[in-house]
Amino acid sequence: MNAAGFKQTCHFVLQSVNHLLWPPVCINCSESICETDKSLCKDCWDQLISCTGAEYCGRCGKEAGRYALLEGACPDCQGKEIHFDWIARSGVYTEALQSMILAFKKGRTELNSTLGFLADTALQVSSFVKEVEMFVPVPLHWTRRLARGYNQSLVLANKLKHSTAKISTDLVRIRRTKFQPAMPSPAARAKNVAGAFAVRYGHNFPGRNLCLVDDIKTTGATLNECARTLKEAGASKVFALVLAIAGQKQ
Ligand SMILES: [Zn+2]
Ligand SMILES: [Zn+2]
Repeated sequence: MNAAGFKQTCHFVLQSVNHLLWPPVCINCSESICETDKSLCKDCWDQLISCTGAEYCGRCGKEAGRYALLEGACPDCQGKEIHFDWIARSGVYTEALQSMILAFKKGRTELNSTLGFLADTALQVSSFVKEVEMFVPVPLHWTRRLARGYNQSLVLANKLKHSTAKISTDLVRIRRTKFQPAMPSPAARAKNVAGAFAVRYGHNFPGRNLCLVDDIKTTGATLNECARTLKEAGASKVFALVLAIAGQKQ
């Protein structure tokens, strides 16, 4: 056997041992999969495609066909005060997308690439991708970041591909807020985050087009308050990019 043949045999043996010890499984449901299935089983891919495929309202992110929009707003967000200019999202918060986001927030780092890929795809097909000058992850309060060890919005922002825009962490959460899903109404959610954000001294926001990045949008109270804070700090436009819109198809 020549050197190349020996190397190939060694590689094959190592790969077989590797598969024997760690057979490839779906990163969402742990079903066994083939090497070529790209981390998810067929069932989970089908679920992801069904919750990411539909058309949605660019003002609030809810699923809506283009003919349901009146002056760019769907029936759900007509007349609502929204401080961000446009939103892009990967899908609705259900099935595989929901379970993957929940696991991602609990530290399952093997999901980072797949969710990052979904967020980046939503960004690249958005109407505003070329206008973005800076990505701004929605911040956690420092005590929560310390407890979790990372900010999931910053992890997502790091996976986005853009030729010029960089990430800014100059938007900060200055007050601990109660857990938003525990709030009884949209008004209570808005009150819970009112005045919770501020910008750091020396920020570079004036006149810039920014894009907030977050994992989930429910009523939009958090994104709205962040966008309001950034515009008060001089931002020209504030877009939003999220993985999932909750409160639909559940
Ligand atoms: Zn699966
Ligand atoms: Zn809408």
